[in-house]
Amino acid sequence: MRFSHIDIMDIPVYNKSAEEAFKVFIRFSKENRVRTLYTPNTEMVMMAQRDPEFKEILKSSDLNLPDGIGLKLYARIHGLSLKEKIAGVEFMERILSYCEKTELKIYILGGAEGVPETAGRLIQKKYPHIKVVGTHHGYFSKEEEPYVTDAINEASPNIIFVGLGAPRQEKWIHHHKRLLDAEVVMGVGGSIDIFAQKARRAPRIFITLGLEWLYRLVKQPTRIRRMLLLPRFVIIALYQRFF
Ligand code: UDP
Repeated sequence: MRFSHIDIMDIPVYNKSAEEAFKVFIRFSKENRVRTLYTPNTEMVMMAQRDPEFKEILKSSDLNLPDGIGLKLYARIHGLSLKEKIAGVEFMERILSYCEKTELKIYILGGAEGVPETAGRLIQKKYPHIKVVGTHHGYFSKEEEPYVTDAINEASPNIIFVGLGAPRQEKWIHHHKRLLDAEVVMGVGGSIDIFAQKARRAPRIFITLGLEWLYRLVKQPTRIRRMLLLPRFVIIALYQRFF
């Protein structure tokens, strides 16, 4: 990543405000090449410690937005300052609003069958002039991958939102970016479910207190295995700092 960043367990994350990050996005959207945008959180940084391919993919990204209070905590423990936590879902919202004004076309890939279509419909309702040029669910097989990339290119989007869960979405983006005819491909995790109103974001008070992870755990207890990475993240952060 070429931009001002700090390394969190070897993963570079952008270290300026969301405002500045958005200017970078705008620049990307005007260039004639494919740019990747990921939103690593604590779980993803931990996954990357055990998955060298995933780590390399995150390291090779054009822009990584720090999406999680844990990353801020890591920075603090290490005496660094992480300017701002930038939530992927909020950044996607900004992009949608910008696309409506600029006529950039969007494609939504990911979520269960029917979900990206619902997300597209609701986005269209909220941003009447936006161009949602295509959607596809995220449960396709390896054999179907060429069909998916062809369908995307035929729709000719500028921005592609990919929500296949981490690390699948980043790996998919990395391995297909050269085949995609678009300007920005962004990994958005569960945000498509949120735009489709199949999932809700935590109430503002949880977000403010840095407890969004707790809300998600209570709503979806099957996340417990992934969440167990969080205390380990803090222990490793402290260990690295003091030993
Ligand atoms: N998903 C998908 N294909 C898959 C696995 C997951 O489309 O093979 C979708 C899933 O339906 C959900 C999103 O990916 O919409 C991932 O959600 P999760 O909450 O795991 O993502 P996070 O935001 O935590 O990265």
